[in-house]
Amino acid sequence: MSDSAVSSESTGESVADSYDVTVVGGGPAGLSAALYAARLGQDVAMFDRGGGRAAMMMDTHNVIGVTEDVSGNEFLGTAHEQIQEYGADLHRSYITDAARIDDGGDPEFVVSTGDDEYRTDRLLLATGFSDGRPDPPLPRTGRGLHWCLHCDAYMFVDESVFVMGTDESAAHVAMILLNFTEDVDLLTRGDEPEWSDETAQQLEAHPVDIIHDELAGMEKRDDGWLQAYEFEDGTTREYRGGFPMYGSNYNTDLAEQLGCDLNDDGQIVVDDHGRTSEDGVFSVGDVTPGHNQIPVAMGQGAKAGIALHMDLRRFPRSLDEIESSGSVSETEVPAIAPEQLETAVTHEGHAGGPRETDAAIEGQDPQTATTNRTPNAARTVTSYPGTPLIDSSAGGLAGRTVAFQATSPGSNPGSRSVPVRCLAVVVCDAVLWRHTPKPPESGQIHHPRRFGAITWTSIAV
Ligand SMILES: Cc1cc2nc3c(=O)[nH]c(=O)nc-3n(C[C@H](O)[C@H](O)[C@H](O)COP(=O)(O)OP(=O)(O)OC[C@H]3O[C@@H](n4cnc5c(N)ncnc54)[C@H](O)[C@@H]3O)c2cc1C
Repeated sequence: MSDSAVSSESTGESVADSYDVTVVGGGPAGLSAALYAARLGQDVAMFDRGGGRAAMMMDTHNVIGVTEDVSGNEFLGTAHEQIQEYGADLHRSYITDAARIDDGGDPEFVVSTGDDEYRTDRLLLATGFSDGRPDPPLPRTGRGLHWCLHCDAYMFVDESVFVMGTDESAAHVAMILLNFTEDVDLLTRGDEPEWSDETAQQLEAHPVDIIHDELAGMEKRDDGWLQAYEFEDGTTREYRGGFPMYGSNYNTDLAEQLGCDLNDDGQIVVDDHGRTSEDGVFSVGDVTPGHNQIPVAMGQGAKAGIALHMDLRRFPRSLDEIESSGSVSETEVPAIAPEQLETAVTHEGHAGGPRETDAAIEGQDPQTATTNRTPNAARTVTSYPGTPLIDSSAGGLAGRTVAFQATSPGSNPGSRSVPVRCLAVVVCDAVLWRHTPKPPESGQIHHPRRFGAITWTSIAV
């Protein structure tokens, strides 16, 4: 639990941090969404337990630009580095609970690891599914045991293959494999077929051998690949590999806790941009309907990442908003938060840079400017000339509600007291408020360039 934790109204546990976007699930779908959201200026957290379907890949197929010898873990490792490079926080943990904070305002959620809670404005579920696994004997995944038809059918062209299972999909995959090879067996392993009469008729009209006996053993080649299966009736049949078809267990616990609609197959229902039936909750990848492929998951993630940004970005202000809040003042732009601004201007790919870290705070001489970009490091808390705001040690003010008084010798002298929700640089809220007709909404923060003249007179946390 973070030192800076405050009590959560929703559950009474502790809030370790707050984010614009929280992605649960660090496979290709979630990673892609996180990359887009981070590079579009959002403060992004990713929570990943690891060991998803992409992590099971021995080789990567169908991903243009990625050579086939790249394993799933190598692919994911590179992607994890990429999102952190753009400022996303990667938490290697499992999210057990998710709930909406129902205060009648904009969507806001709290997710929990069991130990810590995190607040977030938007939540994206990319939790994938687990394949139903038959009993042994089974060869090694990628060496005779294959879970992805569109990825691996190609390697069985003109080879002897099996399909294991008793349901509709097992029967159909067996027939589909005839597009690649003439030698296809359907192994029911002693279980009763569950496919329909129509499918049985279809099967009869295709050269697929249906083997009903249970397996008794397995032979492997020296290189680890499957050689043959032995059956209880004493026969042996040679196979190069095959596909078990025992259904998919969709990881929808969090979606169900949040009330998201599921379809009859148990997948999360989404629109074309990954929006679920619940406002502010998005979902992408294998846990949603569609082809279970990395490029598809990445495309869905990209679309959702852009949709998240469009949901959260502050400008352009609509005519209604201009009427209620006024025109956009110079002090409000750019809207990108200090941490994301700093990450962007210090990035190697930045058009004007990479700038030195302190250059992100132009012309200022902060007493403390924490710029630690280590993944999962404490939030930045910055104290500027005048009375030091507060101890800027790890955690600082992140997520706290504080009241403070500030005098501004510039345009608007006098003392003010206003509650703000501090996210990163608490003083920004005051400055923003000074230049706007009403106090900022919680979470609004501004980059530090504008407030050198502010003097802090008191602060209460
Ligand atoms: C053996 C195998 C080989 C494959 N080969 C290919 C291939 O060559 N080419 C191809 O295009 N596709 C391939 N696929 C399919 C591809 O892996 C999937 O389509 C893709 O990984 C889906 O991405 P995803 O992000 O939706 O889910 P996943 O990759 O499954 O990732 C989901 C992640 O969410 C995490 N998670 C779930 N719940 C939580 C939680 N509550 N808290 C924290 N983390 C959570 C999981 O731990 C996991 O890391 C293969 C699949 C398998 C099984």
